[in-house]
Amino acid sequence: MQQNTEYKDVWVYCEVQDGALTRPTTEVIAGARKIADRMNMKVVGVMIGYNLEKVAREPIYYGADEVIVCDSPLLKSYQALPYTYVLSDMVLRLKPWAFLFVANEVGRELGARVAYKTITGLAADCIDLLVEDFVMHTPQGTLVFKDCIAQVRPDFATRIAKIFTPKHRPQMSNVRPGSFSPLPRDETRKGEIIRWEAEIPAGAFAVEVLEERRLPKSNVKLEDAKVIVSLGLGILRDASGNPRNPVEAYEHAEKLAAIIKDRLKVETEIGASRALIYAGVKELEGLIIKDRQVGQTGKTVAPDVYIAAGISGAIQHRVGIMRAKKIVAINTDPDAPIFQIAHYGVVGDVYEVLPKLVQLLGGGEVEA
Ligand SMILES: Cc1cc2nc3c(=O)[nH]c(=O)nc-3n(C[C@H](O)[C@H](O)[C@H](O)COP(=O)(O)OP(=O)(O)OC[C@H]3O[C@@H](n4cnc5c(N)ncnc54)[C@H](O)[C@@H]3O)c2cc1C
Repeated sequence: MQQNTEYKDVWVYCEVQDGALTRPTTEVIAGARKIADRMNMKVVGVMIGYNLEKVAREPIYYGADEVIVCDSPLLKSYQALPYTYVLSDMVLRLKPWAFLFVANEVGRELGARVAYKTITGLAADCIDLLVEDFVMHTPQGTLVFKDCIAQVRPDFATRIAKIFTPKHRPQMSNVRPGSFSPLPRDETRKGEIIRWEAEIPAGAFAVEVLEERRLPKSNVKLEDAKVIVSLGLGILRDASGNPRNPVEAYEHAEKLAAIIKDRLKVETEIGASRALIYAGVKELEGLIIKDRQVGQTGKTVAPDVYIAAGISGAIQHRVGIMRAKKIVAINTDPDAPIFQIAHYGVVGDVYEVLPKLVQLLGGGEVEA
């Protein structure tokens, strides 16, 4: 069953910060390109704000075919209501087949509001986008909806789910940062800029922005790291079950990261499982902070090497590391799920294996 053929193209809501397209936006454009090419459709960037002239072509350089730009002093600062008004109006008039947002504060809020206004669904926290037929079994028979987006995301338990919105258009998702690699920026790419004039009702401006202040940026750069040494609840006890001061494990991880950084000249970082962060271990205060969380409700990372030390490999953690090129697991339990996806596994105690790795890489003596 071919659905709603008047809907076409894959739209991406383009976020601009400090006059530049944000990196997660470029990632979502790459995801949009993947499904648009399957469907022979265009990728259309949608940009709202003020003084966008210089940045308007950036989505094209990163893979979009067109950009719809709504440039107005009234839209200088992000505000949910007027932005929702503009986007919903565009959707209702131009009928995109899909509309993708970044899964961050703005994308989550705006996408959900636009989906509600335009009476469609939204799949949150997607980590991949595919095009598949959706098969629905009903008492009257089997319906096949051709060419739907399979919006891939972790479910709330142990599996990866595919969400389909077969009956409504546009199909809307927000996509977790780190889920796609941006396409190389190419200034020779050509595409049309379409100006959008919005008549926003005065009632949409329920908030007056008096001042904008930036939150301090986190020093933890998990997204950029080439090597991540990540720690889990396993660091609270050694292999014999004796409680340990987890700061010791943190220091081993820090040393390992520092040596790798020094030797390979690549960015390294310390990550953590959610369980360790939320365990509220006093000794780890200020060290194992929320910014280090890897996984479904933390960050999606794509390092060359991910070292999981004392991490069981629950699905919510695994979805955050699926794009790591090599995974090294250190765990006392040979049946730990992390070994199912690890390229290299060490069945052993973090309190023995991490110092050995430090010694090996640092050139020190390795005990037998
Ligand atoms: C909606 C939802 C979202 C979630 N989001 C996230 C998320 O973003 N990120 C995330 O990480 N989790 C997330 N979780 C939690 C997730 O389900 C797991 O509970 C969590 O990942 C487990 O963390 P862990 O592996 O550190 O702990 P555990 O599962 O307790 O594993 C500890 C591991 O350490 C091993 N071990 C013990 N002692 C040692 C030792 N001395 N040396 C070596 N190994 C040892 C054990 O064998 C075990 O495998 C989420 C859960 C839900 C429901």
